[in-house]
Amino acid sequence: MNKVEIICQNCKQDTLLKREPIYDGFNKIGTKFVCASCGFIFKNEESISFKISKNKKSIFNNEDYIKQKKIFDEDENNQLCRYCSFYLINPFTQYCSIHKKEVEATDTCDKFEKSSAKKNDIL
Ligand SMILES: [Zn+2]
Repeated sequence: MNKVEIICQNCKQDTLLKREPIYDGFNKIGTKFVCASCGFIFKNEESISFKISKNKKSIFNNEDYIKQKKIFDEDENNQLCRYCSFYLINPFTQYCSIHKKEVEATDTCDKFEKSSAKKNDIL
């Protein structure tokens, strides 16, 4: 691999790195790291800002956001205690008449039975 994607620290370009051999006479004595855009010579490989691969950049894409929305919009949202026919509410407590215990309006359970009367909050 002779060329690598970099962000040049000198010209700030999204560019490529050129590796050029340094010769002393006929002997290769090292490698020169040069910006393909501006010709800036980097001191060493460690000082170069290599570009992070595009695949690693975003763990969460648009699809993930859509999935999360769907879960929230599903029927589960309608199976809350507050919409259930067993849910009783008075100024002191919210009560489930089937489990005989206090519940929260946002609770949910498998005994849910949709109440036709409880479309609005009863205060
Ligand atoms: Zn440059």
